[in-house]
Amino acid sequence: MSRTTRRDFIRTAAAGAAVGVGAGALKAEDLGGAGAGAGAADGGSANAAGVSKSDIVEYELLLPYQFERRVEQCPLIYIPVGALEWHGEHMALGNDSIKMHAICREAARRGGGVVFPPVFYGVPFMVGFGKKYQFKANVPVTEPFLEQLLNTTLGAMEEVGFKAAIVITGHTSGEQMRLMKRVAQNYQGKMKVYGTYDNEWGKEINYTSDHAAMWETSILSYLHPELVEMDRLPKDVNVKLEGVGGKDPRIHASPELGKKAIDAVSRDLAALGQRLLSDNEQS
Ligand SMILES: [Zn+2]
Repeated sequence: MSRTTRRDFIRTAAAGAAVGVGAGALKAEDLGGAGAGAGAADGGSANAAGVSKSDIVEYELLLPYQFERRVEQCPLIYIPVGALEWHGEHMALGNDSIKMHAICREAARRGGGVVFPPVFYGVPFMVGFGKKYQFKANVPVTEPFLEQLLNTTLGAMEEVGFKAAIVITGHTSGEQMRLMKRVAQNYQGKMKVYGTYDNEWGKEINYTSDHAAMWETSILSYLHPELVEMDRLPKDVNVKLEGVGGKDPRIHASPELGKKAIDAVSRDLAALGQRLLSDNEQS
């Protein structure tokens, strides 16, 4: 992983814009060298600002000729799903989708493929919103709604020409995890579809995900330090955190751990993508 460069900054800004985060506020921390490596392998040329065009993997940012090239090289689509949900007092509401989108981006830079814009709809169960807050910003939708949204999206992706799809949620309630599996199992088309969640991967570092605790706080503080405010949390670690599940982020979270998690999970997803594509060729 190379140190942060202007190119990383620009890429982060573009990605931030894609998920609706104010790009202007973004800092120069992103996924660094892995993306650069994938770019070199693609043989893309850098523009005046130093952004290699082949580093761009986001569906909505690609020009037609770039899209064509990426799908030809690797007809794999990632569909990141999450939620708008309370993530403690210290983290952005859209964490699950932002996290999942970024991990999919990293997987596509490593192994090829295209990343669909993040889906911010999540189904219940969601963690209760902070009691002292007036506006309860959780947005739970029904399971049939999300199922149909994903199914329709998958059909459209097959129509475009993708041969394999990974539908993955970063909001890991049992209901939403099962929904991912169900959408994949019930898919009627020819495209290979794998439904999953971030905590199915990264076993080599004992990654488990959590809720606004050590893992999620680490990942978001690596990706978008401006979206995490640790000083919103009580300093006294004996004071229990509201709606946070997992190891205490005040003690255990760090951007370095976040990077480790992103690397491990994205590596596994890139490998999964290759398996799906070779299954598709054999069937
Ligand atoms: Zn979460």
